[in-house]
Amino acid sequence: MEIIRIPRIMQDIARTHKMHNKTIGFVPTMGSLHEGHLSLVRMARAENEITAVSIYVNPKQFGPTEDLSQYPRDIEGDAEKLIAEGIDILFLPVDSLMYPDGFSTRVEVEGFSRRLCGAYRRGHFSGVATVVTKLFNLIGPARAYFGQKDFQQTVIIKRMVKDLDMNIDIVVCPTIREEDGLAMSSRNLYLTREQRDAAAIIYKCLNEASGAIKSGIIKVTELKKLMETRLASEPLVSEIQYCSAYDPDTLDELEEIVNEALLAIALKVGETRLIDNILVAAGQKSSSP
Ligand code: AMP
Repeated sequence: MEIIRIPRIMQDIARTHKMHNKTIGFVPTMGSLHEGHLSLVRMARAENEITAVSIYVNPKQFGPTEDLSQYPRDIEGDAEKLIAEGIDILFLPVDSLMYPDGFSTRVEVEGFSRRLCGAYRRGHFSGVATVVTKLFNLIGPARAYFGQKDFQQTVIIKRMVKDLDMNIDIVVCPTIREEDGLAMSSRNLYLTREQRDAAAIIYKCLNEASGAIKSGIIKVTELKKLMETRLASEPLVSEIQYCSAYDPDTLDELEEIVNEALLAIALKVGETRLIDNILVAAGQKSSSP
């Protein structure tokens, strides 16, 4: 595994691979890698000749009151995991080379970026779109792999790739969960034992809502009330930011579940913000990527 820190060198190496007709599969991450990340890496390895993973805690996607400085970092542990997966390139860009003095560009995917998480994390998705654009330009992948756990992110990246003619396949991979259903996340490391157990309510609530849809509840006001009541029953949930049913393409909140719907939740357990979602279809079995 080659470790590259300089963006220009990353670009040169990627160019050489492409000149030799090698397809690059790319997995962007912020590190502190868990099985969720590694599932993306495995998918990338299976589908491409070269696998590149980036680890970069991108300052532009953190708000002023968010957890940039505390965000968990474990470069050595991550590198070991990636060597074990047999990847080819680990890109660890240096901050000052990603955003040198005078850097003035932001990529904004309008509309989608203001909904759901965007309403609570101003500027977050623009920070994501900006860094992903830079990473795509440096690595030039044929395919890039994202987790469904961050569903809104996948919608925004797909839109951006389409709008800006980036010619990259965006592959969305299923959410990997702990045994009790909690979606794996680097931020789970912030939770105390009690909070960690309490956080399992998120996936339980999503499944119960899915069950309610199957039993015929299609009005979203009713569904939302069920979900809110369930989440509020857990005393360690300190804030519910959103929980409802959304159109998976537009992210508009639905009034009734007619076809497929995205059930999505964002809440805080203590100070830790957690998100999760599942896709459900009226009258059909839910899928839980
Ligand atoms: P992050 O390091 O949190 O920025 O995540 C990097 C990528 O891993 C994103 O595409 C995430 O959606 C994906 N990811 C994070 N957690 C999971 C999970 N539990 N299952 C599948 N993918 C995940």
